[in-house]
Amino acid sequence: MRDYEAIDAHVAASMPAWTAELSELCSIRSEAGDPDGLRQARDWTVGRLQRLGCSVDVIGAEDDAALVVGEIGEGRTVTCVQHYDLQPAAPLDLWTSPPYEPVIRDGALIARGAEDNKGEFLARVWAIEACLEVLGRPPCRIRFVVEGEEEIGSPHLAGYLDVRPELREAAGALMEGGSVDDQDRPIVQCGIRGMLVVELALRTIAYDGHSSLAALLPNAAMRMSQAIASLFDTDGRPSFAGLSDDVLAPSPEQRALVEAVPDGLLDMLLQAFEIDRFVAGRTGNEAKRAAILEPTCNVSGVWSGYTLAGIKTITPAEAHARLDLRLVPDQDPDEVLDRLRNHFRSHGFAELEVTKLAPGTRAYWSSPTDPIVQAVARALEPVWGSRPTILVTDPGAAPMWDICAANSVPQADFGAAYSGSRAHAPNENLRLDYAERTVRSMVRFLDEFASAAD
Ligand SMILES: [Zn+2]
Repeated sequence: MRDYEAIDAHVAASMPAWTAELSELCSIRSEAGDPDGLRQARDWTVGRLQRLGCSVDVIGAEDDAALVVGEIGEGRTVTCVQHYDLQPAAPLDLWTSPPYEPVIRDGALIARGAEDNKGEFLARVWAIEACLEVLGRPPCRIRFVVEGEEEIGSPHLAGYLDVRPELREAAGALMEGGSVDDQDRPIVQCGIRGMLVVELALRTIAYDGHSSLAALLPNAAMRMSQAIASLFDTDGRPSFAGLSDDVLAPSPEQRALVEAVPDGLLDMLLQAFEIDRFVAGRTGNEAKRAAILEPTCNVSGVWSGYTLAGIKTITPAEAHARLDLRLVPDQDPDEVLDRLRNHFRSHGFAELEVTKLAPGTRAYWSSPTDPIVQAVARALEPVWGSRPTILVTDPGAAPMWDICAANSVPQADFGAAYSGSRAHAPNENLRLDYAERTVRSMVRFLDEFASAAD
């Protein structure tokens, strides 16, 4: 076992300079759809990885949001999947300081991207820098795959990887970041959910009618309500044919992890949302399985007719809705989309248009018993002083399937996010003490990973 004293001391001594570096990166406004900002963040990333000593490649170089790949070290390869693009900072008036003028307050750096994903990306870079400074070389081979389109669903990633299939070869992968609970216990997530987002649209009459004709004119809002309702059983469970066709049965280990989630978390949800029962009256393990292991179908918005101030008595001609479906292995978003369309056709809603809003992503789950998960857990425990909580999946979506599935590369995550990180929200921040612990964990992880069996 390596003596980590020198490494930890180096990390502690470097934090001020590293924090200044993160501030520099966070002052770049690399929001999706901002070509100048994306180009600047892309070039900054290229320069940083080169300074680290990586061989760097820009795939899709003509593109402002190109994929940056940096590789360093020898031995087993771990792919770190990161991104330099950002969610929009708006609404700006809810920030206590401007989102692209990073400030440190109460030990946290506040800026858009401080955690997601510039801070998590740099924490991994810093860990390698510490290895280089103190040990002379990183213990294994590290590949950074840094996207510029993650926040818009990675529309070009699969294409970039198709022309460079060797980038899909690795002994393991780390998702973009990770988190810590409110008792400073680190969390390891073994996977990521998939996602399909669609918009529904229908028109019933040529233009909005005078509502005195409501007895005669088909109402678009009502028709949309019926179409949406047809997707669910009377208890609110999604029930359209084929939704669960390709869902893999969870392994005994996955089931056990789900059932080990404390019941108190369910009670907290009931309290926080001021309800006395969940959808379909789910409780206990049934509620946990539904939340974690089953696909969801969520109505995220519905709009039709006149909803502004005053009264306007119309029969609406058009209605729209958005659905997001969170997927599990081994569902293919395009097949789920086909089944959704088939459902509407076979239920008498042939006129309803279903448009996919983003390239769907597939879920990807590694086994909780996989050596990479165990390596992460062993790396975290001494730094955080408690055993990590291992979870089957991150509830969010990320393009891990594109990167890992072709060669069954196992994956896990860890990082510095906490319940107050506010990723995607105003006042996003990175706790610098958590960032430091994440760097120290990363060094230990690289050692564990280098010596783990395939
Ligand atoms: Zn992110």
